[in-house]
Amino acid sequence: MTILPDFSLKHYNTFGIDVNTKYFAAFSTIDELKELLDSQLSTNTKFILGGGSNILFTKNFDGLVLKNELKGIELVNEDANHFYVKTFAGENWHRFVSYCIQHNYAGLENLSLIPGNVGASPMQNIGAYGVEIKDVFESLEALKKSGKTIHNFSAKDCEFGYRESVFKRKYKDEFVILNVTFRLNKVPVFNTSYGAIEQELEKMKVQELSIQAISQAVINIRSSKLPNPKQIGNAGSFFKNPTISFTEYQTLQQVHTLMPHYKVDDLHIKVPAAWLIEQCGWKGYKNGDAGVHINQPLVLVNYANATGKEIYNLSEEIKRSVQNKFGIELEREVNII
Ligand SMILES: Cc1cc2nc3c(=O)[nH]c(=O)nc-3n(C[C@H](O)[C@H](O)[C@H](O)COP(=O)(O)OP(=O)(O)OC[C@H]3O[C@@H](n4cnc5c(N)ncnc54)[C@H](O)[C@@H]3O)c2cc1C
Repeated sequence: MTILPDFSLKHYNTFGIDVNTKYFAAFSTIDELKELLDSQLSTNTKFILGGGSNILFTKNFDGLVLKNELKGIELVNEDANHFYVKTFAGENWHRFVSYCIQHNYAGLENLSLIPGNVGASPMQNIGAYGVEIKDVFESLEALKKSGKTIHNFSAKDCEFGYRESVFKRKYKDEFVILNVTFRLNKVPVFNTSYGAIEQELEKMKVQELSIQAISQAVINIRSSKLPNPKQIGNAGSFFKNPTISFTEYQTLQQVHTLMPHYKVDDLHIKVPAAWLIEQCGWKGYKNGDAGVHINQPLVLVNYANATGKEIYNLSEEIKRSVQNKFGIELEREVNII
């Protein structure tokens, strides 16, 4: 276990932002993690890094970046209806989903091909195509940075919400997630109603529905719609879809009659952030190497050598224009460092 000084993070964040961290180290055991958390350096700031697919570095990092490489997938229990699968935080998310699909553990197929690692999945309750990890989450273990004690969190303890959990708010930067246990179905409950899954299954000429077919459909859709970070730097959706009150929605709808919307409950409406951004004229915008994706206005991109600050400033301009045109405040989904 080596602590490397002045280390480039360019290949450790999917935006491909070229910043350096003062110190960098990887850990593959809990003892190594504890030792690194205790290490006496010229700075006390310690940041846990997974796959770097939900962060934007806006400057050099003046601290120790700790790359999580805790590995392992274990079937820890089963009952009449479920398999309980414990996965360590450093496992790649899609590799884990593929493992479950191969073993006929159902429930994660709609979450295929999301970048990043298992450890970050509860951070923002990752979701796609009508499923969020809270739907299949059983528990997690996390190390408290101060005191180095291990704590167990149930779904209720995690306070999951739309791209939210207790780890993003109340306990921000306090815990290192070590492993997550998922409760997966023995008999699959297929969820094909969201997005273009049904059309894709038809296109694939699927005769009999299976978790394998759904996973492949999701992979096909995502690969055709979302920019691959290996080709164009990005961190997926940069903003959350905002929720507004029903009264606000009624007022806006009189002016913007075509505004798409989804009912959250009797008092709240969700509006797609991509539509709001597109209406403000940002789709395909490019300034230097920072831009808004040509097909996905919710995705900000680094075409080559944009700085994190340039991407952040662009996100500020987008927020301002949406606020001015619609009176809606966009909230970032990506973590700004
Ligand atoms: C092309 C693309 C598509 C995407 N699509 C989706 C999508 O459909 N749905 C979705 O929800 N997200 C999506 N994302 C966002 C991203 O993939 C997820 O948020 C993912 O869970 C981030 O994982 P990571 O390991 O890369 O986290 P990182 O970016 O490394 O870290 C994110 C945050 O979590 C913290 N963290 C990471 N690991 C731990 C740990 N073990 N303990 C404590 N804190 C930790 C970090 O400190 C940081 O604050 C997409 C991203 C991209 C690039």
